[in-house]
Amino acid sequence: MTETVLPPDEALIAGRWRTGSGAPTEVVDPATGRLLTTLHGASPEDVDAAARGASRAAADPAWRDLAPHLRARYLHRIAELIDANADRLSAIQTADTGKTRTETRALAASAAGTFRYAAALLETAEDALTPSRGAYVTVTTHEPIGVVGAIAPWNSPIASDAQKIAPALAAGNGVLLKPADWTPLTSLALGRLITDSGLPEGLVSVLPGRGSVVGDAIVKHPLVGKVTFTGGTNTGRTVAHAAAEKLIPVSLELGGKSPTVVLEDADVEQALAGVMYGIFSSSGQSCIAGSRLFVARAIYDEFVGELVERTRKLRVGPGTDAATQVAPMVHHRHRDQVAAYVDLAREEGARVLCGGAVPEGEQYTEGAYYLPTVLDGLPADARTCQEEIFGPVLVCLPFDDEEDLVRQANSTVYGLACGIWTRDLARAWRLAQRIEAGTVWINTYKQFSSSTPFTGWKESGLGSEKGRDWLRGYQRQKSLYLGTDPAPLPWAS
Ligand code: NAP
Repeated sequence: MTETVLPPDEALIAGRWRTGSGAPTEVVDPATGRLLTTLHGASPEDVDAAARGASRAAADPAWRDLAPHLRARYLHRIAELIDANADRLSAIQTADTGKTRTETRALAASAAGTFRYAAALLETAEDALTPSRGAYVTVTTHEPIGVVGAIAPWNSPIASDAQKIAPALAAGNGVLLKPADWTPLTSLALGRLITDSGLPEGLVSVLPGRGSVVGDAIVKHPLVGKVTFTGGTNTGRTVAHAAAEKLIPVSLELGGKSPTVVLEDADVEQALAGVMYGIFSSSGQSCIAGSRLFVARAIYDEFVGELVERTRKLRVGPGTDAATQVAPMVHHRHRDQVAAYVDLAREEGARVLCGGAVPEGEQYTEGAYYLPTVLDGLPADARTCQEEIFGPVLVCLPFDDEEDLVRQANSTVYGLACGIWTRDLARAWRLAQRIEAGTVWINTYKQFSSSTPFTGWKESGLGSEKGRDWLRGYQRQKSLYLGTDPAPLPWAS
């Protein structure tokens, strides 16, 4: 990674690129521990300037009154610029997050797809003519909120940035994007492309910096009328409290501890590949990671034994190596938190079937590596089985029958996703109704479609993203009554 590829020490504030006036942050390559760059974050004053700029730009008739098909052109242009720069965006994101190039290329492609999907929604959105009960015509329309605060996590920066900016812009708003402090580089690179797209100045600001400073200032700013947040459940709760004080809408995409279920009759090859992909891809740093594995007791030993054999063979290495399957954790501090969870599991009485350590070898000494780990021997209510670890750590649990499975699978505060592996589709369908989760995959896992709503149940979230109604979450509804009776209203006469 050469210096020239990285974005300079500038934030996008109200249409201008300049050094943030907040605290500096060191951005480190997690594969090597090497300092990539030092960036100044935004200050609360920068947030204020950005909010005013976005509010002005969103209210300007040049944006506010732009016909949908013309507004959609900006989104298409941003998508084209992402595609044209996909290789660079992928390289930056791999340096910033440690992820494999295969994954970061896919994330860039997904971000471009999100802008295109939001453009399609914008061009095809319809307002409703509702049944009238008198001498008037009623139409319900949707208008922008104004300024949207978008707070993103570190685990898939460009994809989550796009999932916030694209619908917010399509809905007619301005956006203040705060990337995670550990991974600001891809968001800043995306900000450059947004500038290059010719989008009206000030409409989008990219404000790196600490959540407790910049994120907090965004959520509390009087001009911010909606917050879209993706991150941990505890932070989400803090953001929701601040939004509640202002009585503004907030959408929350939060954590998970998703169950993956293997029934007796599952296609074992498919299930093994799906379970391993579900937990070990992205090094387990995925909200929808299938981090709790439930296997029918009749096949438990055999299935888990084979899973452990295959997990031992996974190739751990830097994201720049095309052969790598498990890349480093995003940050050394996060790797240490994951390692601490495995220590806790040992204290709770877990058997460490494989992994449970930093890999040995000179190539691993400087990076934030951790071996893919499989645990068992814990009850479903152990902390290791209840709390989100957000790393390559899988806990395996046997189940006796459907009742036992449903009870254990639903016994966490989370409700994000679930995977079911079986040849009996009727049984899978029935089970899927009983699992408390916003998404259930049957004989597949971690697949996403922009046109399919994504929702977190319980403490995994509030509100939905994607799908036909996506833009509505970034708009305010307005009902218009148009009188058609030439006679005065009877009361006044
Ligand atoms: P996090 O610690 O909750 O941080 C998320 C974002 O919130 C970061 O930008 C953070 O800034 C900011 N923040 C922190 N304190 C804040 C405050 N008081 N006010 C406003 N913003 C604040 O989460 P993370 O560790 O970055 O990401 C991992 C979590 O995200 C996991 O729990 C994962 O499950 C969840 N996630 C959920 C989904 C989903 O769709 N459901 C998708 C991806 C990730 P700093 O970086 O400075 O702390």
